[in-house]
Amino acid sequence: MIEDDLAEIDAFIEREIRPLETEGDNTRFFDHRREMARTDLARDGVPSEEWEALLREAMRRSDEAGLLRYALPEELGGRGASNLDMAIVREHLNRMPIGLHNDPQSEASIIGNFPFVLLLDEFGTDEQKAMIEPSIRGQAIIAFGLTEPNHGSDATFLETTARRDGGDWVINGAKRFNTGMHVATHDVVFARTSGEHGHPRGITAFLVPTDTPGVDVPFHWWTLNMPSDHAEVILTDVRVPDSAIVGEEGLGLALAQRFVHENRIRQAASSVGAAAYCIDEAVAYARERVTWGRPLWKNQGIQFPLAELWTECELVRGLVRSTAAALDANDHLAVTHQVAMCNYRANRLACDAADRAMQTCGGMGYTRHMPFEHLYRHHRRYRITEGSDEIQLRKIAQELFRAPAP
Ligand SMILES: Cc1cc2nc3c(=O)[nH]c(=O)nc-3n(C[C@H](O)[C@H](O)[C@H](O)COP(=O)(O)OP(=O)(O)OC[C@H]3O[C@@H](n4cnc5c(N)ncnc54)[C@H](O)[C@@H]3O)c2cc1C
Repeated sequence: MIEDDLAEIDAFIEREIRPLETEGDNTRFFDHRREMARTDLARDGVPSEEWEALLREAMRRSDEAGLLRYALPEELGGRGASNLDMAIVREHLNRMPIGLHNDPQSEASIIGNFPFVLLLDEFGTDEQKAMIEPSIRGQAIIAFGLTEPNHGSDATFLETTARRDGGDWVINGAKRFNTGMHVATHDVVFARTSGEHGHPRGITAFLVPTDTPGVDVPFHWWTLNMPSDHAEVILTDVRVPDSAIVGEEGLGLALAQRFVHENRIRQAASSVGAAAYCIDEAVAYARERVTWGRPLWKNQGIQFPLAELWTECELVRGLVRSTAAALDANDHLAVTHQVAMCNYRANRLACDAADRAMQTCGGMGYTRHMPFEHLYRHHRRYRITEGSDEIQLRKIAQELFRAPAP
């Protein structure tokens, strides 16, 4: 029963995570100092080692308590939770104050999201599958190198190439926003191995150890949200064996599709939770705050925008849950347009709700002593990554205008 799962998760957070948040000077990672404490300015703005160590400890405790692998199949030590269960859990975790249970910037959560584990499990060779357990434990860290300086949404136009040389492949090109490279042991690099620009076939995914000669990280992009672990990567004559290919040669974009799908529905559920949390907090503030001698909430100008957001939240929650259930019942490609609908509406909703909560709380809402600026920055990112709003709409329109069967 999902209610039992939520109760177990809440009890674990109270028992193991909340004490960790206040141990020593750890509150600095969650109060108004949070972004400063989490960011290592001396190392190009990447997450500080102390912050990442704390996240790892939370994950370790969660694994020990049998929760981290909640969504993984039983053979990987998980509970095989469905997409629907995960949607409910993600929403629940995001409808809480900022904490160690769930960090949207690094996407670390006590209920793990393991898109690479699922990819390796589905597409990997035996040798690659051996990385599954270390990657759940955080000992192997895999980054995702699809976007390039000249191509993001149009991934079929990648300029990075890999050519055969004897039994090896030699990769040349560049990757942008290659998140997590400061700690990654491997990068999944997408490169064109055959075919023409604009064709989905002919792009291959390679699992490249990050210490391979020719892999360079010249700098990180500093973003609206900090810390930044979004690396620029230059690949110069990077030589890997044939066994580095993940999945089939030329069919790498199928992996990319699987990867973003896993993330899109979970992002959407997280955004519903964050939106609901912002509405809860704004309502609570408006109940307490007195202006012109009467409670702030008595003004329809305060009530109506929040009532509209609440309505939207109910609508989007329904869409996310029905889509998650459809993902459980169908091949994921059959419901790709529904996943796109959830993603762009939920992410936009979270940003709108954070913005409205800020407005409701006035000057205090704008401070870092309240959570809204933090949530806004995190969820604003989701409107660009894993396919931007426009790319989701494009996917929905493709389904809408699909040629009818003859
Ligand atoms: C914080 C962050 C983390 C990221 N992490 C990773 C990562 O780990 N790995 C990785 O590979 N990438 C990552 N990305 C890259 C991200 O996936 C891309 O930024 C995204 O896909 C958009 O690509 P782009 O930035 O090149 O924009 P472009 O493709 O240049 O698009 C620019 C704008 O035009 C819109 N647009 C594009 N085409 C159309 C069209 N046909 N019709 C209408 N509008 C259109 C887009 O929606 C966008 O708003 C990350 C990005 C950020 C900001």
